[in-house]
Amino acid sequence: MGALEKMLQASNSLATCVDRIRADFPILNLKIGDKSLVYLDNAASSQMPQFVIDRLVRYQTTQHANIHRAVHHLSEVATHEYEVARRKLQHFINAREDKEVIFTSGTTDAINLVMHGYGRKFIQKGDEIILTHLEHHSNIVPWQMLAQEKEAIIRVVPINDSGELLVDEYEKLFNANTRFVGLTHVSNALGTINPIKEMIAFAHQRGVPVLIDGAQAAAHLTVDVQALDCDFYVFSAHKLCGPTGIGILYGKAHQLEAMQPYKGGGDMISSVSFEKTTYNTIPYKFEAGTPPIAAAIGFGAAIDYLSNIGLDAIAQYEHELLTYATERLSIIPGVTIIGNSASKVAVISFTMDGIHPHDVGTLLNEEGVAIRTGHHCAQPVMQRFNIPATSRASFSFYNTKDEVDALIEGIQIVKKVFLS
Ligand code: PLP
Repeated sequence: MGALEKMLQASNSLATCVDRIRADFPILNLKIGDKSLVYLDNAASSQMPQFVIDRLVRYQTTQHANIHRAVHHLSEVATHEYEVARRKLQHFINAREDKEVIFTSGTTDAINLVMHGYGRKFIQKGDEIILTHLEHHSNIVPWQMLAQEKEAIIRVVPINDSGELLVDEYEKLFNANTRFVGLTHVSNALGTINPIKEMIAFAHQRGVPVLIDGAQAAAHLTVDVQALDCDFYVFSAHKLCGPTGIGILYGKAHQLEAMQPYKGGGDMISSVSFEKTTYNTIPYKFEAGTPPIAAAIGFGAAIDYLSNIGLDAIAQYEHELLTYATERLSIIPGVTIIGNSASKVAVISFTMDGIHPHDVGTLLNEEGVAIRTGHHCAQPVMQRFNIPATSRASFSFYNTKDEVDALIEGIQIVKKVFLS
């Protein structure tokens, strides 16, 4: 057992191990000018531990070849490691079978896969698709494209002033034409955790399949796709301490088998002639061409790293950070937190009276504090609150209360510069 595992076992909270955890992330030692980096942009992309970096290097230096297509040693090793990574993802989300895990280039690609593979086959003129007001553009635009093509209709679940879905209104949107639900597990703009289990059950009672956008959830909450009973669940590695360019689509086997392929090419076929092509079985039917093999293996390593710490411990510690940061931010005059759901991950969106979020982000950067400003690819959320943008601090298990203090000090400096 490693030193970190021993410390984790002996403690009740990650707080006691956070220095040890931070030592795993070389990038956290960076200086921005003469200030220490305070990285609070984890909802956009999290950082990569040395363990994952080393795994990528080991793959490239000793294991790389193209997969699935040769009998030579390196190709067999690479194929084996790629399929091991798939099984790590399977166990991470408790999928029933490894073939239910499709490697994609990320969340956006996975949603587009479902739109093309499921939506274009099964959604017809006059059918209705339910989305929510909390969706990222990735879970809006593909469905709009489909609706335009098929003359289908999009219905939107509204939210209240705390940024919570109005579940009663969701239930009222169902009718005989409802064919599909697309629903985010966690809002990237506000941090709201949605009651997806109940919402999935409601849709299933009416025979309607549900896609869950787990991009903001998978790094922060334990996800069990069998317990949730969702038809599809999608997320990207780069928000889970893994590489960019890789993510997964989980789909129930019977749904994936019924779907048409999204991309054509090598590996996704069983036989090809100019008269007729037959497709491979799942998951390969949806993995045309050479996949990002190194990234998939790195994703597997990131899953090992996170699982070693434990998602329950991560969720508990990040909640401590959220509570502390919310308390400190909410007493600063002129600061308004947007999104006050009782059920949130450690994402805080806020506005400052008389100061544009872009200026907040720029000045905080001078203090070494990295946050994100803008509409966060969730313009409908901004429209709902009648604001163009917010500043968003998003936390990970390697952040500390000292870093929350650095954010608060930075905000005081912003106030002084702009309002005095
Ligand atoms: N969905 C949500 C909720 C997100 O937060 C994001 C990224 O921020 C995405 C989808 C898109 O993810 P990607 O850019 O990795 O495809």
